[in-house]
Amino acid sequence: MKPSPAFAVPKHQVFDVLELRKDFPVLLQKAHGKPLIYFDNAATSQKPQAVIHALTEYYSAYNANIHRGVHFLSQKASQAFDDVRGKVAKFIHAATEKEIIFVRGTTEGINLVAATFGRMNVKEGDEIVVSAMEHHSNIVPWQILCEEKKAILKVIPMDDDGVLDINAYASLLNSKTKLVSIVHTSNSLGTINPVKEIINLAHQKGIPVMIDAAQAIVHEPIDVHDLDCDFLAFSGHKMLGPTGIGVLYGKLQHLESMPPYQGGGEMIHSVSFKQTTYNEVPYKFEAGTPNIADVIALGTAIDYLNSLDRHAALNHELGLMEYASLKLSELEGVKLIGTAPEKASVVSFVIIGLNALDVGMYLDTMGVAVRTGHHCTEPVMDRFGIPGTIRASFMFYNTYAEVDVLIAGCEKSYCFIKMKTVTIPEIENEIIGEFELFDEWTEKYEYIIELGQKLPVLDEKYKIEENKIKGCQSSVWLHSEVREGKIYFEADSDSTFVKGEIALLIRVLSGQKPQDILDAQLGFIDAIGFRQHLAMTRANGLASMIKQMKLYALAHQSQQTA
Ligand code: PMP
Repeated sequence: MKPSPAFAVPKHQVFDVLELRKDFPVLLQKAHGKPLIYFDNAATSQKPQAVIHALTEYYSAYNANIHRGVHFLSQKASQAFDDVRGKVAKFIHAATEKEIIFVRGTTEGINLVAATFGRMNVKEGDEIVVSAMEHHSNIVPWQILCEEKKAILKVIPMDDDGVLDINAYASLLNSKTKLVSIVHTSNSLGTINPVKEIINLAHQKGIPVMIDAAQAIVHEPIDVHDLDCDFLAFSGHKMLGPTGIGVLYGKLQHLESMPPYQGGGEMIHSVSFKQTTYNEVPYKFEAGTPNIADVIALGTAIDYLNSLDRHAALNHELGLMEYASLKLSELEGVKLIGTAPEKASVVSFVIIGLNALDVGMYLDTMGVAVRTGHHCTEPVMDRFGIPGTIRASFMFYNTYAEVDVLIAGCEKSYCFIKMKTVTIPEIENEIIGEFELFDEWTEKYEYIIELGQKLPVLDEKYKIEENKIKGCQSSVWLHSEVREGKIYFEADSDSTFVKGEIALLIRVLSGQKPQDILDAQLGFIDAIGFRQHLAMTRANGLASMIKQMKLYALAHQSQQTA
């Protein structure tokens, strides 16, 4: 069935960003009253109307289970599903569509290889090589395998620009190395690795190589034949397709020798209690009813990408990245993280003295969607000695004007967050004013609960015994950090009311100098009626929190004067 022209993949004669944007309905909306600027493409891409239509069309016009149904709908669905395997094979230049296995995403693709090829080939004392810039999904499956087999995970180091040390890599390869698994393009740094050289070096020693192409697939043409990789995985949702579908490519000779991944329907040839035989590849690795709708829509995403001038799209994305990098590096306090010469359209940065999440939330108020944090690459953050970055990742549908809004937002956030000159008494007065709007304690109580619900989540790593506040009836964890002579608090509790109290205390005391924290009278607590309404245990808990914050201030102050 051919979709009506409004839903078909458009024919893009020339690369015109403003025209292309019209294919992506999400981009047309506003966020917080401002035009939405979507710079979180490395997390997931937006979907063109044709892909969205492919999903609804399947469910509304030919939803049926595939392969074993003889009826009209099943035949139609089977045909649409099967066609995509060939389309994917062609898209990445696989030798045959038997080399294409549908999985949930990159993560499942890597886990599949670890659980089958890995389990079959890795034994005690063997080694697996990954790099220092891997996504957690290309670390943890290998750690699990290594633990099970008593094997060793080796890590290729990188330099301060985020470039892998190829000499160190070459020296890691030896007769014990059973697999190299490497990211093509880093999601947190943007580095594009020299994968062809990496594969070549491993192959010279007969070592197979797996490529994590989660980021690369949408930006540049991937040719598995030319790369000569043994396995390669990617996710549909990062390449304009739906979530819940991805692809694992594997060389046929490997796939044929590998044991199955999961057992169930579809992956068997015949089942009896005496002996079960397995289906041929790729079905051997696809147990159960597959993700029919999403496979079909993935096919449409590929059609969409093929309809573009991909060279022009890539150039546009790189132009955005270079422009953003240049403009950001001109801003006071900005440090780019990931400055490799070969980079994809990802800009990761920190603003000295500012918390990445604070900046991310401030940019959000301007309609700009960026990602903040470790981006599932904690070892990368450890390597650079930072808790996280602010990451803007661009797609061909982004514009230079949007980058300008990001830059203006960063500049403003620096002034806005860093130059906090509001004094403790001023903030206390603000809070007193807010509480005066309520007549009843019930309303005040509800407001405190609301504040508690909005308190940012404290990272699990800070919920440790030494951060626990003694004297509180509920569990309360308080973490403090000093940046540029000011103390910043973060906290959490298992009680929402206590979280509300914490939110108020943090609002007053966080970001202040140690001496000001020590001098703070905190008269607002009486003024808003806490003392007369709080039960004794809660009042004691509140006093313990304040005491702990002041003790931190004292400790930091004596460190500064020591
Ligand atoms: N590898 C890289 C480089 C990624 O960026 C991601 C997603 N952020 C993954 C693997 C995992 O992809 P998925 O969550 O779609 O399985």
